[in-house]
Amino acid sequence: MAELSFNGRVVVVTGAGAGLGKSYALLFASRGASVVVNDLGGGRSGDGSSTKAADAVVQEIRSKGGKAVPNYDSVVDGEKIIQTALDNFGRVDVVINNAGILRDRSFARISDNDWNLILDVHLKGAFKVSQAAWPYFRKQNFGRIIVTSSCAGLLGNFGQANYSAAKMALVGLSNTLAIEGRKNNINCNVLVPTAASRLTEDILPPDLYNELKPELIAPVVLWLCHESCNETGSIIESAAGWAAKVQVVRGAGSLLRKSITDIVTPEDVRDKWSAVTDMTNASSPGNIQESTVNLMIRLEGLKNPS
Ligand code: NAD
Repeated sequence: MAELSFNGRVVVVTGAGAGLGKSYALLFASRGASVVVNDLGGGRSGDGSSTKAADAVVQEIRSKGGKAVPNYDSVVDGEKIIQTALDNFGRVDVVINNAGILRDRSFARISDNDWNLILDVHLKGAFKVSQAAWPYFRKQNFGRIIVTSSCAGLLGNFGQANYSAAKMALVGLSNTLAIEGRKNNINCNVLVPTAASRLTEDILPPDLYNELKPELIAPVVLWLCHESCNETGSIIESAAGWAAKVQVVRGAGSLLRKSITDIVTPEDVRDKWSAVTDMTNASSPGNIQESTVNLMIRLEGLKNPS
């Protein structure tokens, strides 16, 4: 099988000055893409800014014969980042929403500023950059978007209520972009990475940290963004050279009343609780229509008990 090429494709990677974003930018460029290396160049908690991070990655790509330009805007100014792609390369094909910061505090201590900044960088940033690229994707009938979530969003994590909320919100954003993009060949997927970076250096045990190279995740991102990959609306977790699809599942549940004329009392709920929360026959509703049909079948069952 032929190598996966990105010749002629223009890829925007946000937060590409370090960590995961840097490894994505380098791999895309090595496969022929022209890359916009966006990075605000600030600190881990979103303070300050610098051109150094983006410039160093652009330099590295160019020194290897690749094509790249820097962009130093914050992701909340998404249209400026996409404009950099258009001005320098005349198009945009792929958006990797990767930029991120942390403002970890236990829930009681989260300030409005800690909340707003995290939601702005992760969620609003992905909205602004993706929305700025959207009309170009639609016009050319091709586009690939990645949003970056986290196990802290999917599962929760102590001290990360703001970050967890933003990261789970990105799943909702991606699910709907996948639906709205389908007719124009715009795919959108969620990546859930675990990798060694400045965000995790004091969180992960050193033995594990050393194994979690971002370069082992970048190939997953490239595949998801290739024109021959049809995956869309999915959540893909990846770390240490492993990847898996994650789904929201729902148990079979339980009816809480016997017929359509019955009411439901709190005691009915209590008495059925173990059946309500039983996940033995859990499945994943593929879409909202499927979920609605299931609801209608249950209502029919109540109207016409067998
Ligand atoms: P990192 O700190 O190494 O890289 C993030 C980059 O984003 C930095 O270079 C930073 O300057 C840049 N950035 C921050 N705010 C920005 C803004 N407003 N505009 C533009 N650039 C900005 O961190 P990383 O670990 O490589 O994280 C990349 C993404 O992966 C983040 O979204 C993070 O939340 C997510 N993530 C990482 C892990 C992990 O294990 N490393 C786990 C789950 C999720």
